[in-house]
Amino acid sequence: MNYIILDLEWNQSAKGKNFEKKELPFEIIQIGAVKLNEKGDVQDIFNCVVRPSVYKKLHSAVKEVVALSDEDLKNGVSFQEAFMHLMQFCEDDYVFCTWGSQDLWQLQQNMQYYQIENAFPKVMKYYDVQKIFSIVFEDGKLRRTVEHAVDVFEFEKDLMFHSAVNDARYVARIFQRLLENKEAMERVSVDYYKPPLTKKDEVCLRFKTYSKYVYRVFPSKEEAMEDKSVCSIKCPICRTALRKKVMWFTGNSKKYYCVAKCPFHGFVRGKIQMKKYAGDPHMVFPIKIVKPISEEDVEKICEMKKQVAEKRRLKRMKQGS
Ligand SMILES: [Zn+2]
Repeated sequence: MNYIILDLEWNQSAKGKNFEKKELPFEIIQIGAVKLNEKGDVQDIFNCVVRPSVYKKLHSAVKEVVALSDEDLKNGVSFQEAFMHLMQFCEDDYVFCTWGSQDLWQLQQNMQYYQIENAFPKVMKYYDVQKIFSIVFEDGKLRRTVEHAVDVFEFEKDLMFHSAVNDARYVARIFQRLLENKEAMERVSVDYYKPPLTKKDEVCLRFKTYSKYVYRVFPSKEEAMEDKSVCSIKCPICRTALRKKVMWFTGNSKKYYCVAKCPFHGFVRGKIQMKKYAGDPHMVFPIKIVKPISEEDVEKICEMKKQVAEKRRLKRMKQGS
């Protein structure tokens, strides 16, 4: 299996948001990629400038950072052609690695716009190198620039940043270093552009300290929260089915929380986040994370639930008066 370190540059409407195409707010103008083998050795490098068909002039903010001119873009190839070459470059057995979660989303949105069949797996696994960098060097939450990571590793800055191929080469160097860290490399990410459509496609990822479930699309949040398996909680360590101590509740109806207790491993928290489905914005799919928590955390969640109930009560009183 090869690692494909992918980096994209994209453009947007130069005349502002009012002139943007809803189906394609960001148009890819450059695709860069580095192919690494399983050991992390560079096998090949890919660089392609894409001729835009929607936003032909560079947005001023993009022009400032990107190492491309309007003239370069004119001489690029069509997105269809660029994508075909990229797929040939990737070969059959590969996994994408990107800096952050944006690139794979943009790639698929551009594919959809140009009516290219999306043959990527549903719930595609990939390595978010930015996240893995944060897990190894920071708190796992902070998100840094490529340049910051290059500074941390004291790599020579011999390539200009914000060129897709150069950034891919820098990210490949960073990835080579992170590849040695087996524990961090277990933290694979999932791309949600194509969520599961049927129960059979649903995914459960088990990590050392938590479990992540990606469920199929539902017509509404309420229907999702009525589904038995969405609501159920299993201990992320021993997988015992657990009883809830605090039932599911939500403050803003985007995130839902519950608390359960494992007889062997103590308290665990369930958190469900509702994500909009790109194929139909009226539909949602839940992502559930189950992880162990401390007794203090349980108290915090109970307090949060009390506040939500109190807010509801006040609202009802207001409406009643
Ligand atoms: Zn347990």
